[in-house]
Amino acid sequence: MATKNLIDTLLSDVEETFGKSITITSKVRTPYLQAKAMYPHFQTDSATLKSYASHKKDMLDDIRNAYKDGTAKNKLKEAVLVDMTAVIGNQVKENKFISNHLNDSARDIRTNDLTAAEIKSLLIILKNKADLIVLDETSTSQPHIHVHLK
Ligand SMILES: [Zn+2]
Repeated sequence: MATKNLIDTLLSDVEETFGKSITITSKVRTPYLQAKAMYPHFQTDSATLKSYASHKKDMLDDIRNAYKDGTAKNKLKEAVLVDMTAVIGNQVKENKFISNHLNDSARDIRTNDLTAAEIKSLLIILKNKADLIVLDETSTSQPHIHVHLK
């Protein structure tokens, strides 16, 4: 692809304002990588699930059911991931995306190499971009800032 994705263009602008390079840890995800990203959240019933549940409850429930059915049958993690991947893959075929990482309109920014003050100013710069939705995931087990296109 010759054209730069809008989100990458926006993040280049953000980087310039921030005055320090930012590291992207997650870009586009396959359904399998999305299942892998969600699995630990189902294990711990983490708060991150609420950000999905707020606007994509039906999709989340279908994926959660695949997780629950699999674990109830004592399936191995890999087998549960395969089941979850199938559900997510079917949703993608219907142009339904539980995560904006699935249609390449989301990025995760590494924060463990930034100071608290830097994170604060980066969040302000990001939230100033009208086209971006910003989720502060810095207090999770894998600290990062998630951004996606509105
Ligand atoms: Zn993300």
